[in-house]
Amino acid sequence: MTVETLLNIYNELHPTNNPNCDGEHCTSNGGKVRIIPLDDSCNVHLCRSCYQVELTFNTERELEGLERILPDLPFEVYPVKLG
Ligand SMILES: [Zn+2]
Repeated sequence: MTVETLLNIYNELHPTNNPNCDGEHCTSNGGKVRIIPLDDSCNVHLCRSCYQVELTFNTERELEGLERILPDLPFEVYPVKLG
């Protein structure tokens, strides 16, 4: 099985997956993806809906007394991933 076949199967199983997004909570297969820095050497590319899921997760972590990974900032502050 080729990578392309696997990708086709994946895309059929996840019809709303944004191909540019690293997350799994996309609500559309298009739309802007932004570059979210996790630390000095690591970025993730997330669409708006995946970013919201991550923010909610981080807020829950904070409420449990754990450290946040993402600061509580609006999606718009991050640079748009081009291409
Ligand atoms: Zn996404």
